[in-house]
Amino acid sequence: MWNKEVETAQLEQMQSWQLARLRENLHRVYENVPFYKKKFDHIGFKPGDFKKLSDLNGLPFTLKNDLRDNYPFGLSALPMSEITRIQASSGTTGRPIIGTYTSSDVSNWGECCARALTASGIGKNDIIQVSYGYGLFTGGLGLHGGGETVGCTVLPTSSGITERQVTMMRDLGVDSLCCTPSYALTIADKANEMGIDIAPLKIRTGCFGAEPWSDEMRREIETRMGITAHNIYGLTEMMGPGMSFTCNSHDGWLHVNEDHIYPEIIDPVTEETLPYGEIGELVFTALSRQAMPLIRYRTRDISALDRKPCPHCRRTLIKMKKIMGRTDDMLIISGVNVFPSQIESLLLDTPEVEPQYVIVVRKKGHLDALSVDVEAKAHIYEQGQDIIREIAKKVEKHIHGVIGIHVAVRLVAPRSIQRSEGKAKRVFDTRNT
Ligand code: AMP
Ligand code: ZN
Repeated sequence: MWNKEVETAQLEQMQSWQLARLRENLHRVYENVPFYKKKFDHIGFKPGDFKKLSDLNGLPFTLKNDLRDNYPFGLSALPMSEITRIQASSGTTGRPIIGTYTSSDVSNWGECCARALTASGIGKNDIIQVSYGYGLFTGGLGLHGGGETVGCTVLPTSSGITERQVTMMRDLGVDSLCCTPSYALTIADKANEMGIDIAPLKIRTGCFGAEPWSDEMRREIETRMGITAHNIYGLTEMMGPGMSFTCNSHDGWLHVNEDHIYPEIIDPVTEETLPYGEIGELVFTALSRQAMPLIRYRTRDISALDRKPCPHCRRTLIKMKKIMGRTDDMLIISGVNVFPSQIESLLLDTPEVEPQYVIVVRKKGHLDALSVDVEAKAHIYEQGQDIIREIAKKVEKHIHGVIGIHVAVRLVAPRSIQRSEGKAKRVFDTRNT
């Protein structure tokens, strides 16, 4: 464990840290961020009124649009003289989401990522290859900072130039790969093409995140690379990667660094806070963040919380369920709610296809129609159209059986779907274009 005192703290101790930090941040935003002063005044709330953690329930939410409306620095609580770093997330539309950090914020971020790397089995003697993109995206510099905090050797390859990723991993005896899960598969494919088998190499673990991925995808990466694949989660608005991470239990739960960010689950429609165990939208409040302490930020990510200590590693940090989807990614097809991740799981269950696919949503009359293009395994594709069609039908039936909707499935040629170097774009919604 990187920080045993915090990671195994008793609940009462954790809550007293949280309360003290939260009070400080409520004062900070009330005094320095007009956006929050206005919101708090509107409901007649004074930071001095804040007595217990559950008082958070009554406070207003912060939305992605609030960040866009207050672009670029409207939600920063400190002058530029105190800000030492700016990161950004491009998102899909509109203005970028800007995150500002003081040097203390950067160091706390390093601490959070260090906990994640340690939980993935990385220590001082190891080499980590950071193949998340460097630059404004938080992936590269986030894991880089974590590696430096741990004191391991950081190889900052960034994403791209995939052939070199493979040769460096082999030649330098890299112990861990940090990148998006889709890029991990791109690297595995490239190694294949180059006639290099990754499994027997020294690499034994990886920290993958920044996009949703199914258990099937995890197993695929693990078998192809001969490693243990860990999940790391985060978002630019709150910090970046390292907000939560998996230990070796592989039960689909991530430990949340709740001394730095306070999680809640709400019902996305009624906005009520939900009890532990229930599925809803993740909301985070910054506890230690100085430069941009967001209060009750609605992530749109769907998950659940669990307070029971982890039987596997004995961390007491609250756990969040692996992201199950996003409220804004949810497709409503013929009245049925469908998440791309459900389709991914079913595709990866099919041995005849590769884990490379795109989902297209289009209007068919008044109805929404879903179709999926997925790559056939090379030896299947060589068997010709009859076999290809037969397998496509089998997958369609499987999806229909589980999700209850008809999805047109097409098996396409191996390597015909564009490979990702960062976050994969897998859903193309043509309904509004
Ligand atoms: P960004 O700030 O651009 O890196 O995007 C953050 C978003 O990426 C989150 O709100 C999640 O939707 C997604 N994300 C990040 N890490 C994970 C993960 N480990 N699993 C699933 N989704 C993730
Ligand atoms: Zn654990």
